[in-house]
Amino acid sequence: MDGTPDPQWMVVANVVRWRRYGDGGQELRPGTKAYKGGARVFVVLDYPGMGHMEVTTIGQARNTGHWITIATATRHLHTFRPKLVHSPAVLRRAHPEGHDEECARQRATSLERLAAMYRAEVFAGAHHPEGCLCHECLNGAYGARGEDGAERPVTSG
Ligand SMILES: [Zn+2]
Repeated sequence: MDGTPDPQWMVVANVVRWRRYGDGGQELRPGTKAYKGGARVFVVLDYPGMGHMEVTTIGQARNTGHWITIATATRHLHTFRPKLVHSPAVLRRAHPEGHDEECARQRATSLERLAAMYRAEVFAGAHHPEGCLCHECLNGAYGARGEDGAERPVTSG
């Protein structure tokens, strides 16, 4: 093998700014242990199928900036989208298997749905902490409507 790997369609996503943590998800932690909040990661499309609670991701570590390959909970990622990847560092780690754009798009759509579902399930029944900064709260998807589907007051301030 020599030279630069051919560009490949992959799925990229961003790490949530803050994740709920601890008992009933009442604490907040920035990003994940491995990644800074907002970091861009590349998802390894290892095999199709539903129910990916974790995906293998390639990204730059929060402390060192070095490229790492690490299993990441799907719920800690958002805005999955297809991308034609040129980076040799990523392609050499990913060994992508010739997914085309449409395949990557479908996988991105599926993962986006799963991530939202897992975020809703993980602390189901527990209200978000006051001043919550989780992905749903930052994006206005939680607050007007509670996890039980009931309207709840939005606190201002
Ligand atoms: Zn929240």
